[in-house]
Formats: sequence, C-alpha cells, structure tokens
Amino acid sequence: MENWAGNVKWTPQEVLLPKSEEEISDIIKTAVKSGKTIRSVGSYHSFTPLAATNSITMSLDNMQGLISKEADNRAVAWAGTKLKRLGEELAENGLAQENLGDINVQSLAGAISTGTHGTGITLGSVGTQVEEITFVNGLGEIITLNADNNYHEFKCAQLSLGSLGVITRLKIRCKEAYNLQLDIRKEKLSDVLANLDTIVKENRHFEFYSIPNSQWSQTKRSNIVGEKAGHTSKFSAFINDIVLENWALQLCVPLIKRFLRVQKRFQILLVLSFQTKSKCSKATKFLVRFAM
Ligand SMILES: Cc1cc2nc3c(=O)[nH]c(=O)nc-3n(C[C@H](O)[C@H](O)[C@H](O)COP(=O)(O)OP(=O)(O)OC[C@H]3O[C@@H](n4cnc5c(N)ncnc54)[C@H](O)[C@@H]3O)c2cc1C
Repeated sequence: MENWAGNVKWTPQEVLLPKSEEEISDIIKTAVKSGKTIRSVGSYHSFTPLAATNSITMSLDNMQGLISKEADNRAVAWAGTKLKRLGEELAENGLAQENLGDINVQSLAGAISTGTHGTGITLGSVGTQVEEITFVNGLGEIITLNADNNYHEFKCAQLSLGSLGVITRLKIRCKEAYNLQLDIRKEKLSDVLANLDTIVKENRHFEFYSIPNSQWSQTKRSNIVGEKAGHTSKFSAFINDIVLENWALQLCVPLIKRFLRVQKRFQILLVLSFQTKSKCSKATKFLVRFAM
C-alpha cells in the first residue's frame, strides 16, 4: 500500500473494511487478544507515515455517507465519508460545510484527525466544524464525546492523528448552501505583501502564489455571493482548474528539473499565463473554496 504522494509505503498483515460499529468493536477485541495493532486510513493523502503499519490497516470505505440531517443546520455522517460525497449529500439537503482545504477527496475523519484547514481568517480548521465524535476505543467500546459530556477528551478527539481509536460517526455544524465567487488576479507581489493584513480581513478566503524571478503573483479571493451570480460551466472549470493548474504544471515540473536552463523561460511563461478572471461556484457541490 502507499500514500497519495508515493513517499510512504507499507505492507500490512491484513486490510479490513468493516461494515458496522459492532464489527469494528469485534475486530479490535480480537486484535487485542492476538497482540495486533490497528491503524485507520481514510484516503491515504497524508504525506507522513501516519497510517502506515505492518499489522492491521482498517478502512471505512464500506461505511460512507450522510446518516441524518439534524436541527439548526447540523448533520451526522459516517466518519470515513469522502468529502466530495459529503458535499453532494449535504447539498441535496440544502447544506454545505463551512470551509475545506484545497481538495475534497480526503475522508472526513482523516481531515479532522490531522488538522486539515483551508484559508480564511474567520474560519477554523475542518475539525472545528465537529460537534460530536463517536469512536471505538482500544478496548472495543463505542464512545460518544461532545463538549458538554466530556470537554477535554472531546477537544483531544477533534485532532487525534488516529491515536484514540477508530472514529466512526461525526456530527458537524454546517451552513445553509451558499455560492462562492472566486476572483483570480495578477498582482505585484510587493503590493500584495504591503496590503496583506487588509486583504485577508476584507475577504472570506485569500491566497496567493508568487513566481520566483518575477515581481508577479497570482492572487485568489473567494467571497460568498447571492444566487444571481453567473456560474462557470463545468467544462471551462475543468480546463482551468484541473488541466491547466494541475496536469500542465505536473508535466512541466520534471522537464524543468531535467533542463534547469529552461526554468527562467518557464517562469516567464507562467507569469504571462496569469490573467484576471472571476467565476462563481456553488459551495455545496464540489469544493467549498474553488469552482471545479
Ligand atoms: C493534493 C493534496 C492537497 C492537500 N491540501 C490540503 C489543504 O489544502 N489543507 C490541509 O490542511 N491539508 C491538505 N492536505 C493534507 C490532507 O488534508 C491530510 O493529509 C488529510 O489527513 C488527508 O485525509 P485522509 O482521509 O487521506 O487521511 P489519511 O492520510 O488516510 O489519514 C490521516 C490520519 O487520520 C487517521 N484516520 C483516518 N481515518 C480515521 C478514522 N476513521 N478514525 C481515526 N483516525 C482516522 C489516520 O490514522 C491518520 O493518522 C492535502 C494533501 C494532498 C495530498
């Protein structure tokens, strides 16, 4: 098995995909008796050997989806649910997560367990959206924690690196479904840095990329807008966000590494490709922060 980046590899004795909390409890009790250990895994996206083990790897890929929509924009989901599926099922119920990181392929449990975060000075990490955590501990007991019944253990479980047991369900605080407008600009790095505090305060989300050997940066501001904003077509979003921003760059990196003398020309090309554009996406369906 290996993680997304391919820098961590492991060979577990067993890979288990339980279908219920009771089955997880039985697996843990049996493992304890035979002296085996268990590491839970989500989408294998951590760059460090957090989920690697030569004993038992447990995946919750067979326990996916929204369990219930609760009052006050709360929702309960299976903890192993992939964020893309969670976003889609929340959207069907008129809800969205408050914030996400750059991508939406992680599992909810994996994202909260590692402090995964997006941008936005007013917004916390994904774990801060969690209000109740159910997990199966090292004795096979099913435990539910929230801020009222056990504040300190609950706070630890909000970012546990998989060390407290297998997280099975999560109750999260959501928002009513909303639209995000993404504004991409080409700006002078010196201007961005001089005004950084103000820009960060004035926008729900802000991030920028600077290009070495140039004075330019690409900035991205995202803010909530009403229903009437125009939507980017899925096709054009795919070309921009996936083909150009990911695949094309991915192709160029090994070339630049191999032929260092083209590096400067590539950077100039990259700066020239920066353009100012604006697009709107439903925060519900795919990524909370970017159109996709
Ligand atoms: C392309 C890419 C983009 C990324 N972008 C961002 C970003 O924008 N912001 C950011 O903060 N991070 C980002 N990350 C990091 C990523 O969000 C974290 O590594 C996250 O933990 C991955 O989730 P996962 O489901 O793959 O978890 P895994 O890597 O599979 O596991 C992570 C940890 O969670 C534990 N775990 C998983 N499931 C359970 C469970 N059911 N019960 C208990 N413990 C469990 C594991 O044991 C392990 O300790 C990115 C990573 C990649 C590869």
